[in-house]
Amino acid sequence: MEILEIQNLTKIYKDGTTALRDISFNVKKGEFAIIIGSSGAGKSTILRSINRLVQPTSGSILFQNKEITTSSKGELRKIRREMGMIFQGFHLIKRVSVLKNVLHGRLGYMNSFKGAIGAFSKEDEEAAWSLLERVGLTDQAYKRAGELSGGQQQRVAIARALAQKPALILADEPIASLDPTTSETIMNYLYQICHEDGITCIVNLHQVEVAKRYATRILGVQQGTIIFDGSATELSDSE
Ligand code: ADP
Ligand code: ADP
Repeated sequence: MEILEIQNLTKIYKDGTTALRDISFNVKKGEFAIIIGSSGAGKSTILRSINRLVQPTSGSILFQNKEITTSSKGELRKIRREMGMIFQGFHLIKRVSVLKNVLHGRLGYMNSFKGAIGAFSKEDEEAAWSLLERVGLTDQAYKRAGELSGGQQQRVAIARALAQKPALILADEPIASLDPTTSETIMNYLYQICHEDGITCIVNLHQVEVAKRYATRILGVQQGTIIFDGSATELSDSE
């Protein structure tokens, strides 16, 4: 079953940069898809089009059979609740506690934090604690997120994304600012989320070797077009 169907997607930014040229691909439920390509290839524009942080110039994106590119603000709120986002720079609320950052996930990324704290149920809190346990950070729960190391902050971001109970996780260069050991830890968490929780993952990476070890599907992007779509083995064979 397809969770995502992208057709003829083009993005031209205001300054005239063509970031995506007529790309099409589908992602099946449960896939661990890794988009590889060098800096500037268009990876981030793809992910940001899927959750509509970027408005595509033309083309169609169906997420669970709903059109993303033309959805209303209200629909978008609901759709974004089903998409967990993980970024290179973590995007946590640094001055707020780790626990509250995870609770924020209950609202869905990009949905307002204002007035929401204190409105969380006991169930929400229990879920947040169990997610912190899962990423090994219960002892850091009351620290400000900004005090944690990069790897720890990314684990908080993963817990926050899971708190949404998303159908899809979009991770934009999640290990780009981390050392190799920490990177493996983060990739292993994402792998578990996909294979044990059954959440579809789309991950942007520029490290081909890492992609080959984790992906069930690799999409190679260059200058805004898809130049490879297949398994890790097929990628090795084509090199
Ligand atoms: P849009 O055309 O989608 O409205 P904007 O031009 O408003 O995009 O820029 C959105 C964000 O991307 C801004 O924060 C801007 O600073 C940043 N940005 C602008 N140019 C570039 C670029 N060449 N590469 C990466 N990010 C950029
Ligand atoms: P990647 O994630 O693979 O590094 P991006 O999707 O960030 O690639 O960028 C694709 C192209 O679009 C690049 O040429 C980049 O400079 C340009 N770009 C990205 N964001 C913006 C923006 N907001 N405004 C103008 N150009 C942008």
